[in-house]
Amino acid sequence: MKAKKSLGQNFLIDQNIINKIINSINVEKEDLIIEIGPGRGALTKLLKTKSANIICYEIDQDLRVYLNALEDNKTKIIYKDFLNANVEDDIKSIKYNNLFVVGNLPYYITTPIIKKIIESNIDAKEMYFMVQEEVANRWTSKPNSKEYGSITLYLNYYFNISKLFKVSKRAFNPIPKVESAIIKFEKRIDKPKVNEEVYFKLVDDCFKMKRKTLKNNLGSDRYNKIEPILIKNGLTPNVRAEELSEDIFVEIANYLR
Ligand code: SAM
Repeated sequence: MKAKKSLGQNFLIDQNIINKIINSINVEKEDLIIEIGPGRGALTKLLKTKSANIICYEIDQDLRVYLNALEDNKTKIIYKDFLNANVEDDIKSIKYNNLFVVGNLPYYITTPIIKKIIESNIDAKEMYFMVQEEVANRWTSKPNSKEYGSITLYLNYYFNISKLFKVSKRAFNPIPKVESAIIKFEKRIDKPKVNEEVYFKLVDDCFKMKRKTLKNNLGSDRYNKIEPILIKNGLTPNVRAEELSEDIFVEIANYLR
């Protein structure tokens, strides 16, 4: 059966990489794993050896020929677009200790999928994703780098994100255009104490035009309001959003309340 490009189907075929991914995931048998896009089951097969409950979301019904054999009393495949699924509802009858999410995600919907997980209140302890290397670099970036942006701050507000290892495009069939990486999300227990609405609006506004100064992006009135915090942190009126750490954004958001 041919891989469907429109569904981002690049199947993992390198067994060393598959083993490396599975060995990175510290799941116990009392846990629940949600796998997004199991494809032909390359990861699912090995996830099953962890003996945890598994729920997979696969949009493509044609993959039943590969996935039917993997279903049993602990592994369930739901043929649905993950973006339209009611995940909370789908997992409510399962008893588990911790929730893990795993996915070799189609590149074009990586961000919407992760935003949906955050917004769906499913309280994942850890998440492991294969993403485009460029995306991995952006999400794990630090201030003063060109990759650092509002999405970095948004995701790192909820999770500590680390890049585990790179994956060559030759590990897939068909071979994609770009290199990939595995990233790990760990739920933060030290989430900043801040009004989320104020904080995220501030971050978005400050990064509106990345090359512009904070003063240009916020306008003089709003800039003047927050200037005391910038001065306190040794920053000048020419400062750009990419120079501000999470701590400073939080300090400003709390000052604005
Ligand atoms: N996990 C498999 C592997 O590593 O070989 C397949 C990975 S492939 C990059 C992505 C998979 O996600 C495909 O099987 C595709 O059909 C599925 N998919 C694409 N969009 C989806 C969606 N919105 N919801 C659920 N699955 C989706």
